[in-house]
Amino acid sequence: MTQVTNTTVVQLSAQSTKSSQSSRSSITNVPALSKSNACSGTSLSPNLTMFSFNHEVIHNYTAAHDTLDLVIIGAGQAGLALGARMKEMKSAMSMLILDRHAQVGDSWRSRYDSLQLYTPRKYSQLPGLPLSGDPEGFPNKDEMADYMKRYADHYELPIVGNCGVTSVQLMNQNHTTSTHNLQPQQEPLHELSAQLQTALPCIVGKFHLMIHGFDKPLCCKQLVLAHGAFSAPFIPEWAHHINPSIVQIHSNSYLRPDQLPTGSVLVVGGGNSGAQIAVELSRTHQVSFSVRSPIRHLPLRTLGRSTFEWMDTLGFLHAPTDSWRARFLRKQGDPLFGYELKEALGAGNIQLMRAAEAWDNASSSVVFADSSTMSPTSIIWATGFKQDNDWLQLPNLCNSQSQIQYRGHHTQIPGLFVIGMPWQQARSSALICGAGRDAAKLAVDILANK
Ligand SMILES: Cc1cc2nc3c(=O)[nH]c(=O)nc-3n(C[C@H](O)[C@H](O)[C@H](O)COP(=O)(O)OP(=O)(O)OC[C@H]3O[C@@H](n4cnc5c(N)ncnc54)[C@H](O)[C@@H]3O)c2cc1C
Repeated sequence: MTQVTNTTVVQLSAQSTKSSQSSRSSITNVPALSKSNACSGTSLSPNLTMFSFNHEVIHNYTAAHDTLDLVIIGAGQAGLALGARMKEMKSAMSMLILDRHAQVGDSWRSRYDSLQLYTPRKYSQLPGLPLSGDPEGFPNKDEMADYMKRYADHYELPIVGNCGVTSVQLMNQNHTTSTHNLQPQQEPLHELSAQLQTALPCIVGKFHLMIHGFDKPLCCKQLVLAHGAFSAPFIPEWAHHINPSIVQIHSNSYLRPDQLPTGSVLVVGGGNSGAQIAVELSRTHQVSFSVRSPIRHLPLRTLGRSTFEWMDTLGFLHAPTDSWRARFLRKQGDPLFGYELKEALGAGNIQLMRAAEAWDNASSSVVFADSSTMSPTSIIWATGFKQDNDWLQLPNLCNSQSQIQYRGHHTQIPGLFVIGMPWQQARSSALICGAGRDAAKLAVDILANK
């Protein structure tokens, strides 16, 4: 079944590229995806087969040097919410969402087994599809992963999995690398790879994406980076000097207590993941918990309402980043939601330590800010994440710490947007409950830029 549409966000089938070759100036009239021809993955579940795309669609696009109106990198909550909003707005733009994971929801699925969200279900859902279960209850990570997958199916989003973007290059219409429309440089230009420079031509694509396993670029006019702010684990430099007999795991790779040998565990990092992992490990191991600043505990619920509902009601959750409410919240730093850690500390099940600052080779021990030391059997680094944006070979995009520079959703490069970063529009920007609001704003900008 092929069906022509110019009123919806077009889902591109394998056949679509061929028909669009004859009308490259407008590719809105490509056939919409028919469920039967969308995907050849017979081993997948029926839903995944219906609404996911295989690599053929990329092959067809790249082979034909054809150009998409919009590509979104990342099918996490930020990319999904934006994709859904674009479809709702019936924008008639051709769009693909690329993700290096095999399945929608994998970034939640791969997190530690006991992860329970600190946002209740009614603040852990995206617009247009409720998360089933008690709205006041707190979902677990598999529930979240399955919900994300259901969301993608519900909106029939054009997602290609197993599709890691390895670099992005900006081109001008003469098919050369371009910097002419950028603001004065703040950072030196990145070296552009020889691979990309020879992978030409593309018709009018402004952004050329190299995808793992493909030798030609996928081109698009507008590009959204929705690849997540929590992808590259951060571990302090001095950890490399630690005695190799000590087991070290970042919280990103921690799954469950039996990954660790018996003995003492040092959990470094006072955020919500570190606290949850420390409490879990305290049931099987001797645990020390190292924090840089005093812990601020907030209850999960107060007077019958969740803390997030209070934040919402009092205007803190979605307050614009430059408002006094947002400034007040940021100054407070991130709290720990719930009292489980407080109780474990009170019961003496977890020992609180100052910031872990160095490794002392002579005594084979970790040194803390107050000069105390310990020699743990294992260390969990719950020290957060850094942005990994080296693969984006775009001038003026990142600062010297490889952090994307943006104002709202806009980067310095016209047509290049970002979504899902902490405090991008508000406190909620990197939370599930903020993804829909941010996506709605961004969708308007994308359409205006068409
Ligand atoms: C341990 C933990 C607990 C959290 N708990 C909560 C909570 O309780 N409530 C809440 O609201 N938020 C919570 N968050 C914060 C946030 O909601 C999640 O991190 C969420 O996954 C972020 O969504 P995202 O779409 O921005 O990024 P992600 O979910 O990380 O999705 C980004 C996607 O981009 C893909 N990608 C990345 N690079 C590439 C590339 N080069 N090419 C192709 N694809 C790429 C990835 O495969 C991934 O699927 C938590 C975060 C963590 C780490």
